[in-house]
Amino acid sequence: MSLAKYRQKRDFKETTEPQAGKPEKGKHIFVVQRHHASRLHYDFRLEVDGVLKSWAVPKGPSMNPADKRLAMEVEDHPYDYKDFEGTIPAGNYGAGTVYIWDKGTFELLRGDGDFDKEALKEIKDGDLKIVMKGKKLKGEFALVKMKGGREANAWLLIKHKDKYAVDEYDSEDYTPERVKAQGLKNKAASKAAKKKSS
Ligand code: MN
Repeated sequence: MSLAKYRQKRDFKETTEPQAGKPEKGKHIFVVQRHHASRLHYDFRLEVDGVLKSWAVPKGPSMNPADKRLAMEVEDHPYDYKDFEGTIPAGNYGAGTVYIWDKGTFELLRGDGDFDKEALKEIKDGDLKIVMKGKKLKGEFALVKMKGGREANAWLLIKHKDKYAVDEYDSEDYTPERVKAQGLKNKAASKAAKKKSS
């Protein structure tokens, strides 16, 4: 998979975001990063074929099967992004605060052979079913591409009904207050910097 798009968007003299990374064999990691940029969203990333397949989820993931969360497919991120946390400086792509909200491993619900091959096919088909083993996100989830949608990269992230499912869920309730406060502070600083430079 190419990280060209990822690299193109960033100036690595400015941002401390990683440029590469090599996955460990035998397991597949996921990470969910709360990204307080110009708009708050959660980045949902799954390691497939050596990179992190990524979706931006504006409302954050939910453990309630009734919530169908819009998930916008974005460019692949390098494997080492799984550990990235901190501030992307003002004026840079994605400027804001990144917090690792959850991480763990995942498996394909229907997988029984070549993981990468099967995962890539499910993504291509717009119907990815996974089992998550995180601290917050647990059990079965589906990522389904919206058909005939307005936007080609729009998917839905949906929790399956299983023993981990709950009736109500708001990912912000599981975010520490200090993280929320830092995000607001950085956003205000970024806005002020923009005003100054324009
Ligand atoms: Mn983001």
